[in-house]
Amino acid sequence: MVHSDEQAQAGGAHMAAREDDIAFRIIDLLLAHGLSTAPLHYAVAHAHLDGSHPAISAAIDAQRTQGKPFDACFMAELYEEHLAAEAIRHACGVGSDVARLLDGLLDQLQQADAGSSNFKASLDENIGRLDPAGSSQHLKTVAQRLLEAALKASESNDVLKQNLEVADQEARQLRSELARHRRETLTDPLTGLLNRRGMELEMARVFADEADGQSAMLVLDIDHFKHVNDTYGHAVGDVVIRKVAQAVRQLIPEGAVPVRYGGEEFAVLLPPCSPEQACGVAEKIRRSIEKLRLVRRHDKLAIAQFTLSVGVAMRALGDDLEGLFQRADQALYRAKSGGRNQVMLAA
Ligand code: GH3
Ligand code: MG
Ligand code: MG
Repeated sequence: MVHSDEQAQAGGAHMAAREDDIAFRIIDLLLAHGLSTAPLHYAVAHAHLDGSHPAISAAIDAQRTQGKPFDACFMAELYEEHLAAEAIRHACGVGSDVARLLDGLLDQLQQADAGSSNFKASLDENIGRLDPAGSSQHLKTVAQRLLEAALKASESNDVLKQNLEVADQEARQLRSELARHRRETLTDPLTGLLNRRGMELEMARVFADEADGQSAMLVLDIDHFKHVNDTYGHAVGDVVIRKVAQAVRQLIPEGAVPVRYGGEEFAVLLPPCSPEQACGVAEKIRRSIEKLRLVRRHDKLAIAQFTLSVGVAMRALGDDLEGLFQRADQALYRAKSGGRNQVMLAA
């Protein structure tokens, strides 16, 4: 692998490289390529120069070796591929850390508050005891002062508690905003299904949870979709994509994870089931799409029937998510080459 100059500088001693030093080199690098110092560019350049993301450095080296443009588009791709999911995970982690911290503080304060209330009660009781005993006025005054002091302490404790409750409220809001942000970045706006990034996070989570279950993967692809776009326009193409997403969502069992991972490409991770059940779900979706009849709204033009092909794979022992997906995708390829509008089960 050919290493660029600035990466060679970072290499070896990169751990020791000082942060401000890196900042200058990041700016040099961005300026040298006519890139702005937008946060996204900065983040990618930083990940490259501090040596923390060898995959980013390798991609930059390859881009340069092949004489391809080192531009904003390339930077955005690198960010999407290597840093975006990491940033989301980090943001969510920070949110729950803040909330956990505040939960802990609030608990402690409630305990402290209960402690000082007890103190007050016990002093009250003791002063009461002093009276009938006819103890000296002096002692009583001292006790009275102590009580006042305890009351003050308790009041300032109340203020502190109120402040912390406000902070806790803010942390909760922050957490729900982070959750909303997370949902948005993981969701495809056209269909409301998970997008490719959601697929990576959510499917991986469910897949790991069902470590010993025989789950199944469906990979669905609309047939000759380019033709739909070319004939009726992109807007109708979008409606078709949405209709397929709707059918997928309606016809899969509870616990299944549907995603739109590409333009007219969908995948579903099914909860543990038999191959017959998995193919049954795929077949139901295929048939419902085949039966759909759409009419273009503005000119009442009937849209010709469209279909989809599905590849199905059953999770085998030792399968990882990627392996399972690949086998379903290969089955899809056979469904396409076998004439489309059909379901094919991977061997
Ligand atoms: P095949 O049966 O082999 O799958 O053929 P195909 O035409 O469906 O496949 P191809 O990959 O050639 O074309 C997919 C098309 O999907 C090309 C692209 O313009 C279109 N596309 C991708 N994303 C969107 C989208 O969000 N909306 C619309 N309307 N079209 C999209
Ligand atoms: Mg396709
Ligand atoms: Mg297609």
